[in-house]
Amino acid sequence: MKAEIMAVGTELLLGDIVNTNAQYLAKELALLGIGIYRQTTVGDNEERLKTALLQALQDTDIVITTGGLGPTPDDITKEVSAQVLHQELVLHEPSYEVIKAYFRNNDRAMNGGNQKQALFPKNAIILDNPNGTAPGCIIPGEGGKYIINLPGPPKEMVPMFENRVKPFLRQFTDGTIISRVLRCVGLGEWDMANRVKDIIDASDNPTVAPYAKEGESILRITARAKTEAEAQAMIEPVEAEIRSRIGDYIYGTDDDTLEEVLGRMLVEAKRSIAIAESVTGGMIASRILSYEGGMSEVLGEALVTYSNESKVRYLGVNPETLARYGAVSEETCREMARGLREKTGAQVCLVTTGIAGPTGGSEEKPVGLVYIGINLDGEILVLKKYFTGGREKIRVRATISALDQLRR
Ligand code: ATP
Ligand code: MG
Repeated sequence: MKAEIMAVGTELLLGDIVNTNAQYLAKELALLGIGIYRQTTVGDNEERLKTALLQALQDTDIVITTGGLGPTPDDITKEVSAQVLHQELVLHEPSYEVIKAYFRNNDRAMNGGNQKQALFPKNAIILDNPNGTAPGCIIPGEGGKYIINLPGPPKEMVPMFENRVKPFLRQFTDGTIISRVLRCVGLGEWDMANRVKDIIDASDNPTVAPYAKEGESILRITARAKTEAEAQAMIEPVEAEIRSRIGDYIYGTDDDTLEEVLGRMLVEAKRSIAIAESVTGGMIASRILSYEGGMSEVLGEALVTYSNESKVRYLGVNPETLARYGAVSEETCREMARGLREKTGAQVCLVTTGIAGPTGGSEEKPVGLVYIGINLDGEILVLKKYFTGGREKIRVRATISALDQLRR
């Protein structure tokens, strides 16, 4: 069983809104064990929609559209779907009654377009819409193929899929697909993939795929099986083998975020923390404060000490150290880490200093050079790192790397 997800709407095509419907449907179909052959986005244009639907019917068994079921003339998805399946639209009385009642109850006037929302192919399965005016439908075509029309607004589409479409689709599926995501920091995507290359190359079911996202290296293990439990059991040994090789770098799984994992760790351990940032300029503090579980209990202060003067004034860095070694140096970083602890008394002190560019680099100290200092109960460790990318990338990577130190 193969499916195509087709999002209809000129707003989508032009990037005015993000196609979250396709993402949702893709994940749901995968879980059902229905193969996703293609995702398309088509504007509100009759000819192009027709062409896309005909192509989709040729290549797949089920076409799921979202959008274009509204009352306005540019809402044409259902009409074109019926047309490509050679079916006529007839008034579906029960839907018409529901729509009329909806307007009565909401004290709004109906227009001609709203009657159009109650027109359906005769043999269609009507999907009522308790959250809006446009019902959806499942239209059977020749050769056991189907076009399923769902409304565009996610708050209407999602419940309709969940309550009506999912149960309908189950008849075609005999399995499920489950994924486990392993999230690494401190290990580049290439390095990560290399260390588990044989596993990736040999993987079939489960499959193992590497990718990178926002400074993280990610491995996705995906298994297809009859039941969820069976799929889980297939994933487990593969995950264990991967962990035995790169477990140190894996900070979390699935929807975990670094700040969540760290926040939880710090709050649970009741370790007081202070941060002083130069090159990362508040990014570390911002990320860690997005953790909702009580950072106020452990984070005393987070400073941005960007200028030399501020490093002297707030962290007690020796002006001579700055003059001799520069702000971006192991020596300055060490004094920042020492000073932050002296000033705050925090058990864990984290500091950064570096060159994010685009200017200010030299042969000896290139753009991307960052020192990360961590002071654990008076014991100071300074790490020298080189990050690549533009200014923003370097700052984000330095932030992730610094946060990662808190985990260790
Ligand atoms: P309406 O009755 O509201 O007109 P409709 O079924 O005709 O519903 P559209 O007109 O295509 O749907 O889209 C209505 C709204 O739904 C859009 O403005 C957008 O906010 C949201 N929407 C539509 N398609 C998507 C999509 N693929 N992903 C996320 N949101 C979407
Ligand atoms: Mg519309």
